[in-house]
Amino acid sequence: MTTDAPAPPAAPQIPSHPGVPDLPVADGQLLVGGVPLRRLAERVGSTPFFAYDRRRITDRVAEVRAALGDVRLGYAVKANPMPAVVQHLSGLVDALDVASAHEMHTALDTGTDPDRISFAGPGKTPQEIRSAVAAGVLIELESETEARRVVAAGEDLGVTPRVAVRVNPDFAVRGSGMRMSGGPQQFGVDAEQVPDLLAWLGATGADVTGFHVFAGSQNLDAELIAHAQRATADLVVALAEHAPGPVRYVNLGGGLGIPYFPKDRPVDLARVGESLASVVADRLAPALPDADVHLELGRYLVGEAGYYVTRVIDRKVSRGRTYLVVDGGMHHQLAASGNLGQVIRRNYPVLLGDRMTPGGVDGGPADGAQPATVVGCLCTPLDLLADDVPLPADAEPGDLVVVLQAGAYGLTASPTAFLGHPAPAEVLV
Ligand SMILES: *Cc1c(COP(=O)(O)O)cnc(C)c1O
Repeated sequence: MTTDAPAPPAAPQIPSHPGVPDLPVADGQLLVGGVPLRRLAERVGSTPFFAYDRRRITDRVAEVRAALGDVRLGYAVKANPMPAVVQHLSGLVDALDVASAHEMHTALDTGTDPDRISFAGPGKTPQEIRSAVAAGVLIELESETEARRVVAAGEDLGVTPRVAVRVNPDFAVRGSGMRMSGGPQQFGVDAEQVPDLLAWLGATGADVTGFHVFAGSQNLDAELIAHAQRATADLVVALAEHAPGPVRYVNLGGGLGIPYFPKDRPVDLARVGESLASVVADRLAPALPDADVHLELGRYLVGEAGYYVTRVIDRKVSRGRTYLVVDGGMHHQLAASGNLGQVIRRNYPVLLGDRMTPGGVDGGPADGAQPATVVGCLCTPLDLLADDVPLPADAEPGDLVVVLQAGAYGLTASPTAFLGHPAPAEVLV
């Protein structure tokens, strides 16, 4: 590991937001990748910024591998497409899943073999499809039209396209923060239409490798995840009878969530692993002996490794309420403002990263904590990062507010152009 700071002394663990792992702290400073926050801010040279902790990503992949056994692990690049993050993950996972030509180029630039890159997502343009066929990545078909375009591009380029069919199952998965399967969907091919599509594909000579099902995002319930994986395996085994050749690829999706709010609890990864092992052993392996089973995770691999760091510009008291006005906001970290698909706005875990005191996060009232409302610099009441949370009473301009759980669907899921402020920096530490 390389940092520009001396190794910290054994860091005391500060209890943080319930459900959120304890964070390393030294001398009142949050450590990111071992670097004290104020020093990191100097190194970056500007605020706001996103910082991603390389070590925490590495550790998370190791935990997932230990729990999930030898399924193939993919990283869904859209969760965090920073090239350095994708490069780092490319050395840790078995596959990269991309959802645009731009993400595909980021993935190819890491040196990852096109055999280990898959391209999913609705509305791939004809040019994106040509690029994907030319690159030789696996194309996950979202519709019949896409299938026709892929085959035509293959003929035109003299390349045999590699495809899998993304299936919209005939069941929905409960427990997802964002549901992406079951009923009518823009994602995937309805399960009942898959046999006809397979018959057509088989006649074209395309390399039909298997199936992909992605049920939904941000699921914290191991039982529901396990249930979805079993139902998906059953569906894939049934559809495999219609495949033009042996099924070699079964992608069961991902969607494991991370805790954001006080009542959220981390996914019981061991339980997901046990269930997956039994689904593979008693359903998939016997029926589809040639198939590699894949999981593709985005948020779960990177979300907790990321911090959004923004500086207090102003402190004002308005009719008894204390506001900390920061130089960042919803234009960089939309989700924390509650405007990225949330029905009810709740506070993301937020702390003052340069004034960490034991018990000082909303794990409990610390000595000297006082309620404050953290707002961004945009001229709209939507730009609210934390509503009435306990923060050190002496918080003042210059302090560094940190939004935790900011490693996934942060910067690239935010309206950066809104109000014309500069884009934040990103660092992988
Ligand atoms: C977004 C996406 C993922 C990743 O979802 P997470 O909830 O971040 O794990 C995986 N697969 C597909 C097809 C996706 O669109």
